[in-house]
Amino acid sequence: MILIVGGAGYIGSHVVKELLNQKHQVIVLDNLSTGHREAVDPRADFIQGDIRDESLLTHIFTTYKIEGVMHFAAHCLVGESVVKPFIYYENNVAATLLLLRQMILHNVTKFIFSSTCATYGIPNAKRIDENCPTKPINPYGHSKLMVEQILSDFSKAYGLSYIVLRYFNAAGADPEGEIGEDHTPESHLIPNVLLHLLGKKSSVEIFGDNYGTKDGTCVRDYIHVLDLADAHIRALEHLFATRENQALTYNLGNGKGYSVLEVIKMCERVTENKANIVISPGRTGDPAYLVADYEKIRKELNWRPVYTLEDIVNTAWNWHTSHPYGY
Ligand code: UDP
Repeated sequence: MILIVGGAGYIGSHVVKELLNQKHQVIVLDNLSTGHREAVDPRADFIQGDIRDESLLTHIFTTYKIEGVMHFAAHCLVGESVVKPFIYYENNVAATLLLLRQMILHNVTKFIFSSTCATYGIPNAKRIDENCPTKPINPYGHSKLMVEQILSDFSKAYGLSYIVLRYFNAAGADPEGEIGEDHTPESHLIPNVLLHLLGKKSSVEIFGDNYGTKDGTCVRDYIHVLDLADAHIRALEHLFATRENQALTYNLGNGKGYSVLEVIKMCERVTENKANIVISPGRTGDPAYLVADYEKIRKELNWRPVYTLEDIVNTAWNWHTSHPYGY
């Protein structure tokens, strides 16, 4: 049985569905602060609760035979982390420490951790690999990097076997249309553009058009949520297949950079609609250019992304048109 913490959230719920499709047994623990009960596949066991609740975790670890844990539960907005750093350190670091303590107490050693390219800060490389220096420029990135350090120390001291996955920009939705992205408020680019093209927002804002990029707008690496799910399952299976403790870190991206304007154009093409664009100032803490080098996970776990930006926008559009009010 795999415990998925934060399995009612956007990425977690897609990983849960794929794990179940591949015949893994899954229990989801989520406090539903931002996740949705409806996002959790009915084949999974579900417990509403918080990782800070020691007695609940004791109950879960003693009742179920938990072989591994995937941890998706976190605050993940760069801008919010700048103005509310306390909740980022409390939820992303302190609460994770409590989860790890319960794992150690119950001899559960396999752990997959959701990290981020925000750990790199403003890299000077055109393609970011895992050897690039980690110098976060916002509390969100710092909070994730702190947990990475904790995992490294715990692996040596307590025999934890873990894989850190540093996501670039997760996007897209389940091609079967059952689950998708539903944040309140929505801050991410692709859902914001699509919700505008669906008539639910009057315009789409571009945050900054004078970055040092090809068209002046920020470049990001968009990775389909099912490519992320595939990587998580490979990572878990790798931990199960190796006897020695693993302490591994991988980037998860598409290896291709698209500017904000290019993303908007793709959304216009897929939806056959024209966006009303407003140029606004750049957001604090937004690097101009973030593109992944994913060679390490390709070589070591034989993972590679299969979905294109067009697939991402198509599946996301399918989700938003069939669920205009979210779940
Ligand atoms: N962005 C934008 N308008 C929006 C939302 C995002 O111009 O309504 C830009 C944002 O400044 C960044 C890129 O799109 O350069 C991706 O932002 P998102 O919030 O989706 O992900 P992030 O890179 O912050 O994790």
